[in-house]
Amino acid sequence: MLALTVAAGLAVSSLAGSPASYAAAPHGAPGIGDPYFPLDGNGGIDVQSYDIHDRYRFASGRLSGWTALRLTATEALSGFDLDFLLPVSRVEVDGHRAPFDQTHHELSIDAPLADGESARVVVRYAGAPGHYSYAGESNWLADRHEVVAMNQPHMAPWWFPANDHPLDRSTVRMSITVPKQKQVVGNGRQVGRTVRRGLATTTWEAGEPMVPYLAFFAAGSYEIARGHAGGRPWYVAVSKGLGTTSRQVAMGLMKQTPTLLHWLEGVIGDYPFAEAGGLTTALPVGFALENQTRPTYPFMGDSPGAVRTVAHELAHQWFGDSVAVRGWTDIWLNEGWATYFENFYTETHGGPTTDELMRDEYGDIPAGDAFWNHEVADPCPDHEDCVGPIFASFVYDRGGMALAALRNRIGDQHFSELIHQWVTDHQGGNGDTTEFETLAESVSGADLTGFFDAWLHSDSKPADTAANGLG
Ligand SMILES: [Zn+2]
Repeated sequence: MLALTVAAGLAVSSLAGSPASYAAAPHGAPGIGDPYFPLDGNGGIDVQSYDIHDRYRFASGRLSGWTALRLTATEALSGFDLDFLLPVSRVEVDGHRAPFDQTHHELSIDAPLADGESARVVVRYAGAPGHYSYAGESNWLADRHEVVAMNQPHMAPWWFPANDHPLDRSTVRMSITVPKQKQVVGNGRQVGRTVRRGLATTTWEAGEPMVPYLAFFAAGSYEIARGHAGGRPWYVAVSKGLGTTSRQVAMGLMKQTPTLLHWLEGVIGDYPFAEAGGLTTALPVGFALENQTRPTYPFMGDSPGAVRTVAHELAHQWFGDSVAVRGWTDIWLNEGWATYFENFYTETHGGPTTDELMRDEYGDIPAGDAFWNHEVADPCPDHEDCVGPIFASFVYDRGGMALAALRNRIGDQHFSELIHQWVTDHQGGNGDTTEFETLAESVSGADLTGFFDAWLHSDSKPADTAANGLG
């Protein structure tokens, strides 16, 4: 459905040397190579930073602005793609206008770059994000009062052009302009707010690079609380779109964030980021998301499940955010760990152990149930319409069960060493299932081939044996 926009077609000979010298160089591939989402990310580029300048209009749902990217070519290129859905009006590369083309999710830019050459790319755009979809996702969450850019595995292409894959982590600075009566919350810390003619521009910046889908902003009217704990600032927000009582309940939950982080640090190791927090939106989101440093939640009431959900999203700060998947095939490494820590929260707060919870679920679900009929480490084997399969309940629950069973199999001490070593070895990077299995064997000294085959690489229920952490 995308409008196809073509630039004025300027011949820009001053871009970088003689165009002839790049005649043989290819255009970067339209995808980074993810088996589930072939157009996610792009070939030939590595983005170091995003400087986002967006204005959002609540009444029309339109977003306009520009983003400056600092990127480096990882091979000689005649041009490269970025992932973006909104109509683009202009692209500049190192201050010179560059021809471009748009086909749905791919913004294709003609700009010769030598291998290793760094460039500043500025993209200008305007459109209504709510009109666009990609990979079956229509990700714009907004009403006339509040907007929250949050989703997984894709979000950036609805509000800034990106190399949208967990393999490319970059610093993010965002300046979001909305009516001055509204507040804006993003990742990291607020570093500026300027008001001009009824509009306020609020700038947020995070201390550490992040994967594009973990960048988020929310704009609306919020009750804010902040403080300092564990040597870092925390900042939580609750939408005033909630009624007074609900707002108090949500704020009480958000304020548990520092305590829960302290608990998790005792189990996992040092929190990987300079800031912490959370946000509860009044929008009917239907899911919570681990946006880096500031997970976002729907209103969850004060059920026991609400605090478990906060524990889940905070565990993702290590498992998913600091250590990102290498490909979306590895999603169980995010969701299995987050589910395990939900259950470990229950274990350490007066409830049943992860082992008891795992055995209950194992006993309750018969071998013929569809729950067992997929491989945890390859939840979308036909590589089509993978957004649903990667978030299927078996990825979460069998992933969490596999970890509880692994704890049984290798013992608490080795399991604890495995947790520390995994988040240390891969901090600020990526990890995959094979690397995890190798580390588990190295830490425990056990041959776990059969164990991982049964729990992660099989489409049937693991046998009830001691070798599988059962029995
Ligand atoms: Zn999760």
